[in-house]
Amino acid sequence: MALIIDGKKISKDIKDELKEKVAKLKQEGKTAALAVIQVGEDPASSVYVNNKKKACEYIGIESLSFHFPETITEEELLDKIKELNEDEKVNGILVQLPLPKHIDEDKVIKTITPEKDVDGFHPQSVGALSIGQKGFVSCTPAGVIQLLKRSGIEIAGKECVVIGRSNIVGKPMALLLLRENGTVTIAHSKTANLKEVAKRADILVVAVGKPKMIDSSYVKEGAVVIDVGIHRNAENKLCGDVDYDDVIDHVSAITPVPGGVGPMTIAMLMSNCVSSIE
Ligand code: NAD
Repeated sequence: MALIIDGKKISKDIKDELKEKVAKLKQEGKTAALAVIQVGEDPASSVYVNNKKKACEYIGIESLSFHFPETITEEELLDKIKELNEDEKVNGILVQLPLPKHIDEDKVIKTITPEKDVDGFHPQSVGALSIGQKGFVSCTPAGVIQLLKRSGIEIAGKECVVIGRSNIVGKPMALLLLRENGTVTIAHSKTANLKEVAKRADILVVAVGKPKMIDSSYVKEGAVVIDVGIHRNAENKLCGDVDYDDVIDHVSAITPVPGGVGPMTIAMLMSNCVSSIE
């Protein structure tokens, strides 16, 4: 029987640990505040921002919300970030992506000071990760490492294949698995013989952004499969990048969608916020 990795429970455990830490830090007079910036009215962004506020509340982190209309200029947004960079009360700054087309996301990410870059997207944070130095790590891949560790799955020495090479998931995921001493392959849209490459994996992390693309023909018998994908199908039900029903009898462990990687992203964001005060 495959282990169904319970991301809901693991994320709750992490949030409870953080809540305790925050209470202790408060006794030492140290408090945390996360500034969340949203631009426009994208409904998905509003849901994410709300969930982040709720998580802050649960843990005891103050959340400061800045919601701007779609018409805000790039300069106005950058000025707000610069102001928050200087604000001693603020430990973390998060700009909810995507942004309207007239705003350069790269510029926005680079303007957030690396000391408050709790999303881990700043080039300095990414560079620090790649050379094994301290810095904030992108939340979703950091969450995957926690799922593996807290499920007792050894990474060191394992063949790890990451499908996807985006800056926020695939690349940092590969670097984190390498940091944990996995033998790492990154596969992507131009990879030849993807099935053969994927079948090498003891740990297969899938972040392709294509609903149910990965079926059992990509999976080695007994592999651990981590599904980062999130999609809504025609019946408004959530599914991942992995065809769960097709692979379940071939894996030793798997993350479901929903309830696998998804809840971990916010837990790791909270963890980054707390470590920014520690
Ligand atoms: P992306 O579109 O930026 O990247 C997809 C990657 O997959 C690309 O690097 C591409 O090279 C690769 N790819 C695309 N088609 C392929 C193919 N046919 N064969 C092999 N590789 C292929 O996506 P992303 O931002 O990395 O997100 C990936 C998935 O994870 C999406 O479903 C997204 O919704 C989800 N996601 C979930 C969370 C979470 O909190 N759980 C966070 C971020 C992203």
